[in-house]
Amino acid sequence: WFRGVGSTISLKDAKHIMINTPSNDSIRDYLYKYTSESHLAGTESDKAQAEWTRDKFIEFGISDSKIETYWPLLNYPKYRRVAIVSGPEKFRYEAKLREDIVDEDKTSKGQEDVPTFHGYSAAGNVTGPIVYVNYGRLQDFEALAALGVDFTGTIALVRYGGVFRGLKVKAAQDFGCIGTLIYSDPIDDGPLNKDETNNPAESYPEGPWRSPSSVQRGSVQFLSLLAGDPLTPGYAAKENVTRLPLNETISIPKIPSLPISWEDALPLLRALDGHGFRAVAEWRGGLTEVGYYIGPSEVEVNLVNDIENKITPIWNVISRIEGTEEKDRAVILGNHRDAWVFGAVDPSSGSSAMLELARTFGILLKKGWRPRRTIIFASWDAEEYGLVGSTEWVEDHAEWLDKEGVVYINVDTAVSGPHFSAAASPSLNQLVYDITAQVTDPQTQKSIYDVWKTGPFLGAEDMAMATAKKPKIGVLGSGSDFVGFLDYLGISSVNLAFAGDYGVYHSNYDSFHWMEKFGDPDFNYHRALVQIWGLMALHLSSDIVLPFNTVDYAVEIQGYVKDLNKYGFPLSFPKLESAASVLRQISEDFEGSVVELRQRVHDKIKSKGALSDKLEKRVKKINDRLAKFERGLLDPQGIKGRTWFKHTVYAPGLWTGYSGQTFPSLAEAIDAADPSLITETETRAAKYVNEAGRWLEGTYDEKR
Ligand code: GLU
Ligand code: CA
Ligand code: ZN
Ligand code: ZN
Repeated sequence: WFRGVGSTISLKDAKHIMINTPSNDSIRDYLYKYTSESHLAGTESDKAQAEWTRDKFIEFGISDSKIETYWPLLNYPKYRRVAIVSGPEKFRYEAKLREDIVDEDKTSKGQEDVPTFHGYSAAGNVTGPIVYVNYGRLQDFEALAALGVDFTGTIALVRYGGVFRGLKVKAAQDFGCIGTLIYSDPIDDGPLNKDETNNPAESYPEGPWRSPSSVQRGSVQFLSLLAGDPLTPGYAAKENVTRLPLNETISIPKIPSLPISWEDALPLLRALDGHGFRAVAEWRGGLTEVGYYIGPSEVEVNLVNDIENKITPIWNVISRIEGTEEKDRAVILGNHRDAWVFGAVDPSSGSSAMLELARTFGILLKKGWRPRRTIIFASWDAEEYGLVGSTEWVEDHAEWLDKEGVVYINVDTAVSGPHFSAAASPSLNQLVYDITAQVTDPQTQKSIYDVWKTGPFLGAEDMAMATAKKPKIGVLGSGSDFVGFLDYLGISSVNLAFAGDYGVYHSNYDSFHWMEKFGDPDFNYHRALVQIWGLMALHLSSDIVLPFNTVDYAVEIQGYVKDLNKYGFPLSFPKLESAASVLRQISEDFEGSVVELRQRVHDKIKSKGALSDKLEKRVKKINDRLAKFERGLLDPQGIKGRTWFKHTVYAPGLWTGYSGQTFPSLAEAIDAADPSLITETETRAAKYVNEAGRWLEGTYDEKR
């Protein structure tokens, strides 16, 4: 209903264009282009795709588009081996370590482009007996250690799932293993997986699930200890900076690891049969040919991971539409571009969506629309190794991002199926609900919100959703590029996706063919994602008063404080409870004044068509409090042992990685059963919750 200064069309008309412009065909074309070659970070094809992406932005009419280069550590495989080298002859085996060609999927024959390996894995050539350790979680190793299993000198054989893969390697290393093999069991993302959408649960290419030779590549960085380049913690990996020596970084493994298929894991599991205990039922995977024994095995396995480590350039594409009234405030939209191989879902569905969004913004610009705030598009590189491109950029630009950053909207795997899912800073929850209510679900013609609200609900955790009034928005943990924005800078963030039956993650078969056959054959969900992302960006960049709700944040914080009791300790946290309820009160009062301000702005625009200088000033002040109160939650000391992480309320779980831990410092102190640390961390947590309240009240003006 209003037009910003310098904009010739109203927000309402802009929204109309945002809904109607995105085209399935053009998204399909972009996806085809991105998936036509492998584009691993730091390679020639990655660079070519960065240049192509930049040129597209310029072609769309966003002329301020450029490549920003950083020089992190990356690794590339030279030689790999997994073999059974001793013991009875019948067990001898040389693992294949390659994914089969699938005739109907024409890019699958490009498999030699990117061998199956682990990003940031350590080089090594080790030989030892194997031990089967279930998912390789901390608790799995602890359980076996308690039963007297000695891991010294053994190679851990663990299955994918449960926690971030790098933390499996860390647990193995901490328990004395000399190497780690991580395989994909068919019960986890293969055809024995419980099926969501009544597709016949079959392996690719008959179904969407993992096939016998398929391997999940991926980073084994210790992502809960540090994000970004392992050698430049807290500063940007520019070309000539001083770097930590490799052996001083805390964030990458010291023992070698390799990912393998279930086809290659089977002979190892067979050699384990009858050795040591048999795993309890929950620890067994789906391979009926074997009994899942713990071992250690009688046979020895040779694991070779010959790796080239190098400091090498990566290429972020940064594109900017300058705002009008608040041009020194930035709304940042980001997606990574690098892929393990072709990456149709991960991340090219998101990269294609972002290009289509940029094309739509280009059309808006040509029609005379201008955003109130600056919009930045970022095509990140080297996310797959450890959020490297985004983290280095955040570290590089920390000062102005702290001052000018309003919000970060991340899309990684935009579409792997039809189920909408979001995780966010709670101050953005209401916006996510409002926007999804305005976009149509392609299958049902109901709103995305309505479909999201009614399910299906999968897994025990989501049972709660079936009874909740509103669909559940997740906690931001780690595993994608929002981490630097949220955990390092306190910039409110949101991650958007459509998820589904996705069994080709990080394999050669995450391909255009997979997407057309299973993921999103008509590209309808890609289009819906562009619409959601675009409407969100329009409101965040152009609403006069920012669409944040800080009460929702305070309510969540109160819930997190209550949750601390679920650790089973007879503890209470009076300081933190009272800080949380004070923040709740402050946010409610503040929200009252925001609602009033929105009304005043509305009335003024209706009667005069513009704001008075005085009102404009008040709007800016309130907007700053809305956008920046999450900065108040940053503890400059960071979390003990992983001080790069500054957020008091959120961090990746120390031993889970992907899933978020709320009040991480305090939770870790409780876990360590250390009374003085508990008191100290509670006091600090309360301090920064109070601080957030003070920022809402406006005292941050004096602080800065
Ligand atoms: N998204 C990637 C993964 O899950 C990278 C995560 C990271 O290393 O931080 O493997
Ligand atoms: Ca760095
Ligand atoms: Zn990704
Ligand atoms: Zn990935």
